[in-house]
Amino acid sequence: RVGQVSDCLFCKIVAKEIPAEIVYETGRTLAFRDINPQAPTHALVIPKEHHADAAALAAADDGLADEVLKTAHAVAVQEGVADGGYRVVFNTGAGAGQTVFHVHAHILGGRALTWPPG
Ligand code: 5GP
Ligand code: ZN
Repeated sequence: RVGQVSDCLFCKIVAKEIPAEIVYETGRTLAFRDINPQAPTHALVIPKEHHADAAALAAADDGLADEVLKTAHAVAVQEGVADGGYRVVFNTGAGAGQTVFHVHAHILGGRALTWPPG
């Protein structure tokens, strides 16, 4: 679904109805710090349009998923973690740990990251 969804936390951040520490913005995307960071750099990149998860984003109109990925890398560069290594994660579905159903890429960096994740 496109546009603001009234009960969606991240739509409220886009609408500035609840505060967030915004670190990067493009025409169709927004990046802000995770409220419960799991690494020295932990940002979330979202499309301003509401799509529930990565599957919905993949089905969105041309260019949106592309812009989210480009913003993810731009945030990593801006945060200084691009050279040391960083992780881009879409938890997709409750079974994968997704808790906010407005698609978001986690950008994690600034510490050693193990694989596989838990
Ligand atoms: P998920 O579990 O859906 O992949 O990730 C949701 C993320 O959103 C979590 O890492 C959580 O800490 C973060 N989060 C939840 N509520 C808020 C909020 O109000 N503000 C910010 N900045 N992050 C939030
Ligand atoms: Zn939303």
